[in-house]
Amino acid sequence: MRYDEGMRGLLGTLWVGLAVACQQESAPPGYPPPQAYPPPQAYPRQGYPPQAYPPQPYPRPQAYPPQAYPPPQAYPPRQPSAPAWSPRPPPPPVAPAPAQRCAAGRVTVDRPDDRAEHQIKVFYVLPRDGADEGLDVNGAIARSVSSFDHWLRGQTGGAGLRFDRCAGVLDIAFVRLAKSDAEVASAGAFVREQIQAGIIAAGFDHPRKLNLAYYGGSSRLSCGGGAWPPKLVGRTAAMYLKGTPPGAPPCASNPLGASPTQPGYLDFSALHESLHTLGFVGACAPHHTRAGHTSDDPRDLMYAGDQPWRPQLLDVGRDDYFGHGRADCPDLARSAFVDPLPPSPLVPAGW
Ligand SMILES: [Zn+2]
Repeated sequence: MRYDEGMRGLLGTLWVGLAVACQQESAPPGYPPPQAYPPPQAYPRQGYPPQAYPPQPYPRPQAYPPQAYPPPQAYPPRQPSAPAWSPRPPPPPVAPAPAQRCAAGRVTVDRPDDRAEHQIKVFYVLPRDGADEGLDVNGAIARSVSSFDHWLRGQTGGAGLRFDRCAGVLDIAFVRLAKSDAEVASAGAFVREQIQAGIIAAGFDHPRKLNLAYYGGSSRLSCGGGAWPPKLVGRTAAMYLKGTPPGAPPCASNPLGASPTQPGYLDFSALHESLHTLGFVGACAPHHTRAGHTSDDPRDLMYAGDQPWRPQLLDVGRDDYFGHGRADCPDLARSAFVDPLPPSPLVPAGW
């Protein structure tokens, strides 16, 4: 038996939690009842002793729990407010920010921008009572973004996503929510919406910025979530760093930003949720499955299915969400958030 298949046996016991990287809603219908899952005592028998758990050795992609995603109809019903994908001319350039206005340290405001185009703004968000681990100022979040950006540019041959930077340095803002961890977690499948509301309440609402929040609080369902326009319009992707998905390792058992060039589970997941929030994978994609995912290869960044997720490739076959060249389905290569800006850049619904 190949190692992967052995792991699959283990991971098969985990899929109840599957709720690992992303979810936007509660447990879907159609899953086997809880009593069908193997009993907890069967869990460590495949070489995964409980005492190893946490911490999880890393990198260990084959140990990623598989993801299962709720069906699209579980999304809150919303009508697209705009065409699913529309052209948007770039704004006039801004002068790069002077370095003296980009001083290091914690900030709760938006520093001056290097660029005017659509971009991703990164946040470190804590619930009112959340422990401050300084992830915005100790390099962890910066390395996380660097790792998946480095990986993405390697996959595309150079193009990546545009981030909010000040004099070249990732501009990470800190937001402390008014709600406690328990209050936010009680939102269940809507933790992401709570985070988004807190970011807006803190004064961040730039019309060309997508929010990527590293949230130092919990979710009982998953380690992260994203919007998925046009079905679920929104501007915030979030990682729930203290999440405790059922039947899976605590999210915090994975390191964040362990390397500036090699993404780990949480880092890949942050990119995965960001792409959802940009409208990927479109329901029109040939291998679309499970509300915004691909079905054709578990190594795909956007895979969801019954196999363990082992992210290492961007759009396997280049036919679903990157570089497919069709005008009738969202293509990351044409996104206004891509750097360098492609010709005729497009934005998803709600932008
Ligand atoms: Zn997903």
